[in-house]
Amino acid sequence: MLKVTAPVENCTICDARGWAVCPTCSGATYVILLGGRPLRSAASFEPDAVRCPTCHSYGAVVCPECGGSGRLYQGHEYGSGRNKPLHPHSG
Ligand SMILES: [Zn+2]
Ligand SMILES: [Zn+2]
Repeated sequence: MLKVTAPVENCTICDARGWAVCPTCSGATYVILLGGRPLRSAASFEPDAVRCPTCHSYGAVVCPECGGSGRLYQGHEYGSGRNKPLHPHSG
């Protein structure tokens, strides 16, 4: 049993999976680029499709909210990009 040092809750961005569907290709793993920027998701057989530069063709990215842990400290501010306890646990 792991020792919990601060209260945590499941990450609702990734449903506690630790990863999220790639925001660039929406999981398609390939995209169409326009002027070097992703225009839309694409299928691999499309002539101009290239591997998604965001997820490197995985179709998913490490959850930006929880950093892949699937857990957030209780009271976490969504969108803050910082998965840290608001009030450091004194232990
Ligand atoms: Zn992608
Ligand atoms: Zn998450």
